[in-house]
Amino acid sequence: MRRRWLFADQLGPHFLDEPGQPVLLVESKAVFRRRVFHRQKAHLILSALRHRAQDGDVRLVRAETYAEAVTEPLSVCHPTSRAARGLVLRLPDVEMLPARGFVTAPQDFTAWADGRGHLRLEDFYRYARRHHDVLMDGAEPAGGRWNLDADNREPPPRGVTRLDVPPPPEIVEDAIDEEVRAELDRWEREDGIRFVGNDGPRMFPATRREALDRLRHFADHRLPEFGPHEDAMLAGDPLMAHSMLSPAINLGLLDPLEVIERAEKAYREGSAPLSSVEGFVRQILGWRDFIWHLYWYFEPEYRAANELRAKGDLPKWFAELNAGAVEARCLSDVLAGVRDRGWVHHIPRLMVLGNYAMQRGWRPAAVAGWFHRCFVDGYEWVMTANVIGMSQFADAGRMSSKPYAAGGSYINRMSDYCGGCRYDPKVRAGDGACPYTAGYWSFLARHEQALAGNHRMRQPLRGLHRLTDLDALVEQEKARGSRAP
Ligand code: FAD
Ligand code: SF4
Repeated sequence: MRRRWLFADQLGPHFLDEPGQPVLLVESKAVFRRRVFHRQKAHLILSALRHRAQDGDVRLVRAETYAEAVTEPLSVCHPTSRAARGLVLRLPDVEMLPARGFVTAPQDFTAWADGRGHLRLEDFYRYARRHHDVLMDGAEPAGGRWNLDADNREPPPRGVTRLDVPPPPEIVEDAIDEEVRAELDRWEREDGIRFVGNDGPRMFPATRREALDRLRHFADHRLPEFGPHEDAMLAGDPLMAHSMLSPAINLGLLDPLEVIERAEKAYREGSAPLSSVEGFVRQILGWRDFIWHLYWYFEPEYRAANELRAKGDLPKWFAELNAGAVEARCLSDVLAGVRDRGWVHHIPRLMVLGNYAMQRGWRPAAVAGWFHRCFVDGYEWVMTANVIGMSQFADAGRMSSKPYAAGGSYINRMSDYCGGCRYDPKVRAGDGACPYTAGYWSFLARHEQALAGNHRMRQPLRGLHRLTDLDALVEQEKARGSRAP
């Protein structure tokens, strides 16, 4: 049997044909020279690789490039980026197998997608539920409804600073983590390799065992509360009831199907309500697979899409996660979360960070690069549709029906940030003007023509015309420019 070459995001048992298959792992320093990654992301990846190297017949090669480590006939599962796939195809005597680590097969996605004008998550998700028989009672969705969003997506509960759920079990670092930390310090000191963000205790699983512990704990203790407040934000509870499993799933330590099956089991056993389980399964069987397939289904040029012609560079305070420079409480807190953990949940990503970048007209490719480098779960495949398509609307709606642009009133409804902020979400002009509210209107004014044909934008554009102070507001936001709000 050929030795299996595992990329650093293919570390779990489902990437082998049988237990004990010999493995090649390559640790490439060049990857860390090319991009300024979050320090905790570099730590997590190296720790995961080195822990995996302790497990069975594994050859771990430290090399500048992948190519120089490949010296024998190998097999490899389809990698997760176009560049890595190109490399594998160029190397002699490397057999490439179909992708693993996702649920729906590429040919099934293509058959589903071909001929559809717009590709929408809801349609794909229902297809995938049926096709994989997940949360189904015969031909009908469990509970009779496909979508339980109406039961979820509530604002945070009133009068609390945290949800009443136990935090995920802490990771206990070991000698491998100590070695990785010392080595990253040395790279910074002696090799000119730079990182962004703060170092800190490892927060995410680097081994299969740690990942399974987290999955078990989530399913037993946090999943029941996942649904109702999945879109809410509390300054004192950055985790809410989210699973924090994305880094482990994206490293390949967990198979998404086992995560989905574990969640469905909780529903069938009556230990978690359908609304939470449906909301969670939608994220993995729906969103995660949808985003993965769009990366390959859309043409490579999609990554450079910029239909709204955004030209701005990321300001230094944002690029360097300088939360202290920001007075807007929501943005400062979320930026601090990225700086300190390399992770925030999906609403801060979409409605605080992505929304701000789109309002300000920063280049979508630069925003995608930033997310890729600064998040512990960031990979190229996951950036493309999430950031270029969903969060920046740079594809003019190929995968979402309207831009995720919102003013301060959305953040005020879905969080407890605004009460303690120097700005007021209801104010759009003057010293106390909320940068999100003012930014929202100036975004609409800038792109009125491009958005005019979108029926979901008709109402907001009508609102724009009712503003009596629009010119002053646009000038005010021009003057704010790329200054930290
Ligand atoms: P949960 O809320 O517990 O959800 C469960 C799982 O569903 C996640 O672990 C993840 O595997 C999957 N999932 C849910 N939504 C998505 C999605 N849109 N795309 C892919 N997987 C999804 N996810 C990443 O894995 N890596 C990224 O770099 C990333 N960048 C994002 C950038 C933007 C602008 C946006 C809007 C979303 C991004 N996401 C990314 C998706 C989502 O925000 C994260 O997967 C999620 O916040 C991770 O936390 P969690 O594990 O607690 O997720
Ligand atoms: Fe954010 Fe505006 Fe609310 Fe301040 S007032 S927290 S800037 S939305």
